[in-house]
Amino acid sequence: MSECLFCRIAAKSIPAKIVHEDEGFVAFEDIHPQAPVHILLIPRRHVSSLNEASEADRGLLGDLLLAARRLAKEKGIETSGYRVVMNTMAGAGQSVFHVHLHLLGGRKFSWPPG
Ligand code: AMP
Ligand code: ZN
Repeated sequence: MSECLFCRIAAKSIPAKIVHEDEGFVAFEDIHPQAPVHILLIPRRHVSSLNEASEADRGLLGDLLLAARRLAKEKGIETSGYRVVMNTMAGAGQSVFHVHLHLLGGRKFSWPPG
């Protein structure tokens, strides 16, 4: 079994509050939510960060964004506003090295981000 936390969540060997899954992706609630809606979207395939994504991952990355948009609609935040974030490398706040998109909404966000 993979050592990767998010691979383990995708394989259901670690519990998570899964809100959506299909053959390519799993979406689950962040364990330390930073907003009323805070969902993580991960591809089932292990890619450690955006730096390791290649041209072959074009579809995977596009699907991730479209899945985030669908979930934003389902959660009722598509009009009030939401933010999608992909922290890449430790300096930008990446702490789990399996590529993931944060979907955040349900409150006002400031800019620039901290
Ligand atoms: P990042 O810091 O961008 O790599 O995001 C990793 C996110 O994973 C953080 O927001 C954590 O709160 C979240 N996280 C860590 N462990 C778990 C877990 N077991 N279940 C759900 N979310 C988690
Ligand atoms: Zn992984």
